[in-house]
Amino acid sequence: MPISVVTGGAGFLGSHLCERLLDAGHRVWCLDNLDTGSLTNIAHLRQDGFTFVNHDVTEHIDIPGDVDFVLHFASPASPIDYLRLPLQTLKVGSYGTHNALGLAKAKRARFLTASTSEVYGDPLVHPQPESYWGNVNPIGPRGVYDEAKRYAEAMTMAYHRQQGVDTAIVRIFNTYGPRMRAFDGRAIPTFVRQALEDKPITVFGTGQQTRSFCYVDDLVSGILALAFSTEHEPVNIGNPGEFTLLELAELVVELTGSKSEIVFEALPVNDPQQRRPDISRAQELLGWEPTVDLREGLQRLLDESSRAELTGRIVGA
Ligand code: NAD
Repeated sequence: MPISVVTGGAGFLGSHLCERLLDAGHRVWCLDNLDTGSLTNIAHLRQDGFTFVNHDVTEHIDIPGDVDFVLHFASPASPIDYLRLPLQTLKVGSYGTHNALGLAKAKRARFLTASTSEVYGDPLVHPQPESYWGNVNPIGPRGVYDEAKRYAEAMTMAYHRQQGVDTAIVRIFNTYGPRMRAFDGRAIPTFVRQALEDKPITVFGTGQQTRSFCYVDDLVSGILALAFSTEHEPVNIGNPGEFTLLELAELVVELTGSKSEIVFEALPVNDPQQRRPDISRAQELLGWEPTVDLREGLQRLLDESSRAELTGRIVGA
């Protein structure tokens, strides 16, 4: 039975990853300090073969016995979280990644780190291929996240080149699905929460900035394909369907049958103007591409989550 360690396993993506690894017959160690994650996300995974350890991965990681895969997902991920936790974000991207790589080296495990489309910053190349080096402001408020992830990529490649660790880097584009937190500040949970309560939908700027949204099941399939491959260079995983924030808001209003009005608020500092993954490498190397478009994915999110979860009116949501 393969043995996997998932850091950040009690978070949104980490909990879906733990679930799919268990389904694939893995034994799973889930390490999380619950900074932005929740035990509610993994309550349904408490079974033989699943172990939760409340651990801050900026401290040394010790796992008994063999490990085959280390999947490093621990990090605040939404702007609200990393602006509230700037030092923790830098520390988990640096010390946390160092410790997770150290574990993979000691156990001779394959290592995969969750990087992000934010390494491209406010991109001057569109869509973004992995060969683009990005346009990031290191000292802006978002720099704590973007630079932590860029550093994590640099350290991952150094462990691969100097220490021979079997590493992989996934650059994740905006992902959504059940178990996102209603108040985490990202566009989809915010718009859905506001629409379900018939409150004004708050679109930043003129709403003409674009994003590409990937349904979580598609994302996890891509991540597992990369984890089980032999690729070392970064691979974009995301859905190339590109929408303006205004289009997204209108679609959410339509699908929820909401009476909400759309209102416009000031654009956050260094908010990227456009985002769309070039997924040619994922298609060629992994034979992966997304299968769920935005309309279907939003409908699934609405069908598979309770109203209380989507409006943040339950503990742990
Ligand atoms: P999340 O906040 O739901 O999950 C992150 C998890 O990491 C939480 O459970 C949190 O408690 C845990 N964590 C944070 N610091 C820790 C530490 N020091 N020690 C142990 N655990 C710690 O966020 P998410 O959306 O699931 O993101 C997961 C990963 O994917 C992150 O690395 C994020 O940067 C990356 N990512 C996510 C997206 C997305 O659209 N969701 C996009 C790009 C990259």
